[in-house]
Amino acid sequence: MTEHQKQGFSTRCVHAGTRPDQQTGGVVTPILPSTAHRFPNPSGENLYPRYFNIPNITSVSAKIAALEHAESALVVSSGMAAVSTCLLGLLKAGDHVLFHSELYGGTLHMAKETLPRFGIEVGFCDLQTEDLSAQVRPVTRMIYAETPSNPLLKVTDLRRVAEFAQPRGIVTLVDNTFASPINQRPLEHGFDLVLHSGTKYLNGHSDVCCGAIAGRRELLERIKAAAIDHGGVLDARACWLLERGLKTLALRIRRHNENGQRIAEFLQAHPRVRKVHYPGLPADPGHEIARRQMDGFGGMLSFEIRGAVADAERFASRLRIFTLAISLGGVESLVCFPSRTSHALAGAAERARMGVTDNLLRMSVGIEDSEDLIGDLTQALE
Ligand SMILES: *Cc1c(COP(=O)(O)O)cnc(C)c1O
Repeated sequence: MTEHQKQGFSTRCVHAGTRPDQQTGGVVTPILPSTAHRFPNPSGENLYPRYFNIPNITSVSAKIAALEHAESALVVSSGMAAVSTCLLGLLKAGDHVLFHSELYGGTLHMAKETLPRFGIEVGFCDLQTEDLSAQVRPVTRMIYAETPSNPLLKVTDLRRVAEFAQPRGIVTLVDNTFASPINQRPLEHGFDLVLHSGTKYLNGHSDVCCGAIAGRRELLERIKAAAIDHGGVLDARACWLLERGLKTLALRIRRHNENGQRIAEFLQAHPRVRKVHYPGLPADPGHEIARRQMDGFGGMLSFEIRGAVADAERFASRLRIFTLAISLGGVESLVCFPSRTSHALAGAAERARMGVTDNLLRMSVGIEDSEDLIGDLTQALE
């Protein structure tokens, strides 16, 4: 256990990995953008950004490792770079990977279109409700989870999946983007690997595109070797912004959790709203598991407006504080229609199977005052 792993999460957010400036005593990690480094240099390594060993990359990676309770972590240039590097770095032709049936649209597209082109076989099932032993094969090398999932916030019991996979030698990987490590640390529940779209909560300010992977050192070494080949490095300045964003992660997530809960309760009680998907609601099918494996229920929820698609569109167009926009996890509140954004690539048939209707709205609740957010929703629902 490292020193930081004995500390609370707010302390880790501020201090883990951060390297105060040795020359000036400045308290933040300096931006060191060099792509060429004299050799020999004090690190004793060939420093080069795409080798993922320059100081801004290693310091922000160490912070993420401390937050995820991981032996090792790596930052890459987007969430999809994290997804593709994990999959292509660990799998080979002839392997089979079992995906959760409800996935981020880009991940679903990669699973269906890209992996089969490389001879990697894919299967899909609801990891929570279906019998896993009927889904795996002798060549199943990986189980890929996403919880809470996008956009219906379905919850998967991570420990149950890890206990199934471990004795069979199957690597377990989960997209932890929606929860953030403040609310959920899958490695503590036996998972091998966790990934993030750092574009969302980790950075949290809707101004950096990045991804992160954390987990067992031996797996991270293999993933890093793939990342060096794939080339999806994160620039030193973007690393620095991500590191700054992470310092307030615990603080922001506490507020996202409070606002998420209040707005979910408000919407659930509103006569114009049909169905609210939020694991913090006691009636939500994922509530019991979420209570056990999460420290908070987060700021993501989805719901359906009663009536036609035009009614949902009118509601969205009348919002003043919420912005109708793709993406999530920033300080500002956003709404979007998953059928036209995150799940546009999934296709109509797949959306129907998942239950992503055309008037389903996904909401990323920001850190504004909840009274103002509820006021905005109230006037738009009238
Ligand atoms: C946004 C998102 C991704 C992809 O991340 P990018 O940074 O856009 O590449 C992956 N998984 C989830 C759950 C996401 O929300």
